[in-house]
Amino acid sequence: MKGRREFIKKVGLTSLAGGLGFVSLSACEEKKSNEEKLSEFAALQGSKPLYEWSIATTWPPNFPVLGEGVVLFAKYVKEMTGGKFRIKVFGGGERVPALEVFDAVGNGAIEMGHAAPYYWAGKVPSCQFFASIPFGMNAQQSIAWIANGGGLELWEEIYAPFGVVPMLGGNTGVQMGGWFNKSIDKIEDIKGLKMRMPGLGGKVLQKAGGSAVTVAGGEIYTNLERGVIDATEWIGPYHDYKMGFHKVARYYYYPGWHEPGSLLEFTVNKSKYESLPNELQEIIRAAAARASTWMFNEFEVKNMIYLDKIMSESSVELREFPQSVLEGLKVHTNTVFDELTAQDAPSRKIYEAYKAFRNNAKRWSAITEEAFYQKIQI
Ligand code: CA
Repeated sequence: MKGRREFIKKVGLTSLAGGLGFVSLSACEEKKSNEEKLSEFAALQGSKPLYEWSIATTWPPNFPVLGEGVVLFAKYVKEMTGGKFRIKVFGGGERVPALEVFDAVGNGAIEMGHAAPYYWAGKVPSCQFFASIPFGMNAQQSIAWIANGGGLELWEEIYAPFGVVPMLGGNTGVQMGGWFNKSIDKIEDIKGLKMRMPGLGGKVLQKAGGSAVTVAGGEIYTNLERGVIDATEWIGPYHDYKMGFHKVARYYYYPGWHEPGSLLEFTVNKSKYESLPNELQEIIRAAAARASTWMFNEFEVKNMIYLDKIMSESSVELREFPQSVLEGLKVHTNTVFDELTAQDAPSRKIYEAYKAFRNNAKRWSAITEEAFYQKIQI
């Protein structure tokens, strides 16, 4: 320490102690002369980060849209801070196992995470209201609820005991209903249907007599090809095309009643977030908001292009779920929510807030977006 103190005194940079550059000078470097250190520091000045954080995602590295969006988030933070705040991005399993990201952020093993909130349903059942609700709100409605309609405060409240701060981290838009090798003409056709479908949608499927199968991403294609499963959902045309499902399925059903606008999340370790100066907290929020918007827009742009590719490159039949099937699934959805809210008090509270906003949004959307889509747009 003596060498470091003398160095600081000598170059008259005491105000920088603990800040720019000095944190990186290890004990072995103290053997260097003050002159050498000074010249090293001069080289670092202006480029050495003050903060070096990491973010772990639940996605494979550079996963289209979601992984890419997180890389952009880190880039925005770096550029807004002139390189003083660097965030290193890790794909699922590279630093933290994908399904342990929430715990790792909470206990401070890593500063940030990016994920789909429903992965934590076993630990925090009410987190599902901030992910995807079957027959629930679409992207526009759910983002409005979270950002400006009181949703974020409820989300912060349920994550606070785990030491985690949540922020919006993108939205997939309305997903596709999935790939089927069996025709779905009536609700009874769901009986005995083996379909890969996670989360609350899977629970609804089970209520309708189907079996919701969990299959790892890399095995879905083979299972569908070999008839181990009759159907699978994934995301939308862009990601589905890359999985190649159009080569092994007969029907591509829409709409994705089970995921009408799945939200993703950025999470930050609460005490590390609170230890940041206010301007850096705001930069994190601004970068997350920008990356979130980028992800939503990227889904919109890529999905419309890739649906055309799927239809022109394969013999898959694009089909809409019959209304009677959707009505039947709605009844089962209500049962799933009755059970969830009976078992979990936070879910009960959040579902009330969610329903109130959804009902208002539905009335408003009926005379605006819905009327626009049906009657106005050329
Ligand atoms: Ca999905």
